[in-house]
Amino acid sequence: MTASAGSSVADRTTVSVALGRRGYDIVIATRRLDTWANSLNAWLALRWGMTTSAGKALVVTDRHVARTHADVATESLRQAGWQTERVELEPGEQTKSLAIVSRLYDALVGMKADRRTVVVAVGGGVVGDTAGFAAATYARGLPFVQIPTTLLAHVDSSVGGKVGVNHPQGKNLIGAFHQPLGVFIDTATLDTLPDRDYRCGLAEVVKYGVILDGEFFEYLESHLDGINRREPEVLRHVIARSCRLKADVVEKDEYEVTGLRALLNYGHTFGHAYEALTGYGDLLHGEAVAIGMIHASRLAERLGRIDPSVTQRQLDLLNAIHLPTRLPETCRLELDSVLDRMRLDKKSLGGSIRFVLPTRIGQVELVEAVPVDDVRAVLNGVL
Ligand code: NAD
Repeated sequence: MTASAGSSVADRTTVSVALGRRGYDIVIATRRLDTWANSLNAWLALRWGMTTSAGKALVVTDRHVARTHADVATESLRQAGWQTERVELEPGEQTKSLAIVSRLYDALVGMKADRRTVVVAVGGGVVGDTAGFAAATYARGLPFVQIPTTLLAHVDSSVGGKVGVNHPQGKNLIGAFHQPLGVFIDTATLDTLPDRDYRCGLAEVVKYGVILDGEFFEYLESHLDGINRREPEVLRHVIARSCRLKADVVEKDEYEVTGLRALLNYGHTFGHAYEALTGYGDLLHGEAVAIGMIHASRLAERLGRIDPSVTQRQLDLLNAIHLPTRLPETCRLELDSVLDRMRLDKKSLGGSIRFVLPTRIGQVELVEAVPVDDVRAVLNGVL
């Protein structure tokens, strides 16, 4: 192993998110979901000083993982004495809505939830964001636990406390910061994840290497087989290091006010525009981010901030893990539509466009007011 990923004891690694009273642990293990409730009891004992902590839990999941991972996680709760209720949601982004949150409130009312009722999300980012928002808002905040089951949720959405749902006019417009009580990641949940979803999570992993940790980027370059074969030991390191890197940022900028957390959006200004203009269909988020990183890197080259070898290393790594690095032939986008969409992005200030751009592998900067002509030139070369 290269850089520190977290503290390891036998078969698990723990990454601690230091946020004072809102701090929590992310446990990363393999084939341990059947006993995960022991971790929950330990977290509760720490948070509330409770010794007999089993109470009521609402398990929120989706149809794709209900009969597998959610069943195992629920059984572990029952074995540990928890009284459980379940809500099974339809998979897909449309689930992230206030109507579904309302269904979760109904379930909580139905089970007479109180402040100690724990909401447990078992699923990808959609389940985590939606269940987390219900937990953040019901009775002014219930304890919330994430058991993420996609790689994206392992390394990104389950870390940092952002929860929320979509508004018909925009993604993630309704939300809150609600840090979980703990996160339990079992790498074996990835055994059932389709390839395309797995690779989308890898785009965020590569992003962490580019923006924060050149040594981690090298680790990825040198463990391609393990990554592509989803080897548990490699996965544990990749996930733990990614969580550590995101946690470092969140610890310094929990509420996204200093600009540090914005660095996590590398590749996203281009990527969001491509995703939106292709109708959130042809390109999945991680694929759009992979392409967006390359285009942001090209922009950095054009502005004289890096030499082409920095882009080439990203291209080589993304290609080796089977992520797209150029827009598919079927996506014919108008240059001006892309520019307009970028200006709509939340990283656009006063009409000019700001970008997260690399200075080398392992470091990026937030660059304000990038000349539109340079963005045009890059887009001309890639659309
Ligand atoms: P997702 O939750 O839609 O999951 C992708 C697909 O995989 C779904 O069909 C799901 O049912 C299925 N699935 C999940 N786990 C599986 C498994 N182990 N085996 C088989 N199938 C499985 O998508 P996602 O990529 O996990 O998350 C995307 C969401 O996360 C978006 O809504 C995005 O806005 C959000 N997000 C949130 C944050 C945050 O900080 N809160 C960060 C990044 C992304």
